[in-house]
Amino acid sequence: MRNIVIGMMSLIILGVSCNSGKKSQEESIPKNENFEFVVDRFGDVEIMRYRLDDWDELSLKQKELIYYLSEAALCGRDIIFDQNGKYNLLVKHTLEHIVNSYSGDTTTEEWHQFMDYVKRFWFSNGMHHHYSNDKFYPEITQDYFEELLDNTPEKGFPIENDKSFADFKKRITEIIFSPKIEPVKICQDVKKDLVANSAVNFYEGVTQKEVEQFYAKQKKNSDLVLKETPISFGLNTKVVKNEKGEVVELPWKVGGLYGQAIEKVVYWLEKAAAVAENKAQKTHILKLIEYYQTGDLKIWDDYNVLWVQDVKSRVDYVNGFIEVYTDPLGQKATWEAVVNYKDLDNSKRTELISENAQWFEDNSPVDILYKKKEVKGVVAKVITVAHLGGECYPATPIGINLPNANWIRKQHGSKSVTMENIMYAYDRARMKNGTAEEFYFSEKEIQLVQKYGYDADNLQVDLHECLGHGSGQMLPGISDGMLKNYHSAIEETRADLFSLYYIADPKMVELGLLPDAEAFKATYYKYILNGMMLQLNRIELGEDIKQAHMRNRAIIANWCYEQGVEKNVIEKIERNGKTYIKINDYQELRKLFARLLAEVQKIKSTGDYEAAKTLVENYGVKIDPDLHKQVKERFKPLNIAPYGGFINPVFVLKKDGEKITDIQVQYPRDYTRQMLDYAKKYSYLPIN
Ligand code: ZN
Repeated sequence: MRNIVIGMMSLIILGVSCNSGKKSQEESIPKNENFEFVVDRFGDVEIMRYRLDDWDELSLKQKELIYYLSEAALCGRDIIFDQNGKYNLLVKHTLEHIVNSYSGDTTTEEWHQFMDYVKRFWFSNGMHHHYSNDKFYPEITQDYFEELLDNTPEKGFPIENDKSFADFKKRITEIIFSPKIEPVKICQDVKKDLVANSAVNFYEGVTQKEVEQFYAKQKKNSDLVLKETPISFGLNTKVVKNEKGEVVELPWKVGGLYGQAIEKVVYWLEKAAAVAENKAQKTHILKLIEYYQTGDLKIWDDYNVLWVQDVKSRVDYVNGFIEVYTDPLGQKATWEAVVNYKDLDNSKRTELISENAQWFEDNSPVDILYKKKEVKGVVAKVITVAHLGGECYPATPIGINLPNANWIRKQHGSKSVTMENIMYAYDRARMKNGTAEEFYFSEKEIQLVQKYGYDADNLQVDLHECLGHGSGQMLPGISDGMLKNYHSAIEETRADLFSLYYIADPKMVELGLLPDAEAFKATYYKYILNGMMLQLNRIELGEDIKQAHMRNRAIIANWCYEQGVEKNVIEKIERNGKTYIKINDYQELRKLFARLLAEVQKIKSTGDYEAAKTLVENYGVKIDPDLHKQVKERFKPLNIAPYGGFINPVFVLKKDGEKITDIQVQYPRDYTRQMLDYAKKYSYLPIN
């Protein structure tokens, strides 16, 4: 896999948020105080709404542009379901048909349980938990499921590939209920064939070895011509065997796999291009269309260069096969889309950070060998999300840093965004949920976090995205792929450490980014407590930590705890049978972050797989079972949903004949309704 440029995934997902403080920039807070953020709750999930403040500041043309890009974001909806597992579209159509047409009683407890499963399925874009990647199952019996099938009109079920309705019933029931079919989405057990044991639909009928050989050959051939600017091999294809038994790639493009959906995406992108704010924006939208039409990864790179150079437009978007988290081999990208516009006020914060990017790089505690001599254009802004699609919906990141290709980042820089309205919705939804009172060591920590938490956390996300991922350099000949399955966890660890190290720097107060020298402590306390304890609530008892961001937080917190034992930097205190975390020396903790950052940067820069493995396996995977049990028991009475996701707003077009005269925003509150609407409008792909 050498020289395969794979994703520099750059996404933070909120940890279990705690009792955050009041936001200080009160003027940017939504005018309507009665806005209800949380609108639904099921499984381990809470559904929220996000608000589009300053919408009326936008021109009609900008609103139109956002509308077209939003349609493009929704048209790829089926793709992510299919990528997450080859049965997902079949299951999706089946479940949706039942929800729409079941003739039996929909007031029973069983129906409620069934709907719970359906909502979770929609939320995860498939049969596997969006975060843990394990398959989850309905709590209803198979008998009840059969009753649902029997009391729903046969016409409308996806039975094309079955001999009879009875065959279909048997097959679909097995797919949903059997733990033998696709038990995990992403296999992480390196002793196993990662390709054969993962449900993700990037490979079919091939082994891990065959895939690796296939790409090794591609890489070898292109080394001669494209050494400085390698394409992102295999980013947008499925790998299968042809009739002759040869390993081949099938591209996702117009006329290829997913062509029916991609055509629609292109249709709306063309409309968007026609109302672009400026020439630069129009050019990259057209280039993206060209890429979708050809599937050519060279054009994808050209597109990314154009996109990253467009820093003037107020409206922006992400649309494509981008992040490689879901591929056990870290090269196939899932489809995602985000539409947004710049939050002008809050962007002043990130602009300050970007302006000082070189200073941060020069002063970071890593070996000079691994530092960038010249930091290229880190463009950082704060955005208002206007629509979410694909992998980013309903569960969304709160920050994104793109493009992913290392050479583009190095030569042309990257764009980094903090999603302010999403973070704000999280903050509002989770205020006063009782976590702080139950878990924080004392009133002092509670007040610290109340006072500084929201601002300091926002800043940490900015630093992670604007600077963290963009910092450092690889030694010649080293690529991300060398860390294989540990790459994502190591990369996130690195970005988090960079942000943690700097948030405590006096420079933050000097630049006016934090009010005083105490503020960073709020983030430090929350981070360590989350990494050592709180995030365990999201994991089933007996399970390991699997998700990359959770691994990264565990690595940092557990490593610092262990390394700081002698100086008693972080203390575990037992009180009435409960464990509490106390940080005794914040400055010493910062030094530990610095040491680990130097170490992790070295691992990345030298592609040291063994060192990555040791660090991740020793600190980021295993959980103390007693502590795990305790955390879950303490969380239980608080009744907090560990995960959150969002309903999209709806754009209402005001027209005079064919001409759009205004576009207004509505905030629907019915999650099921939105899912069924989307199913009706955007189901473009055939079912296998
Ligand atoms: Zn990240």
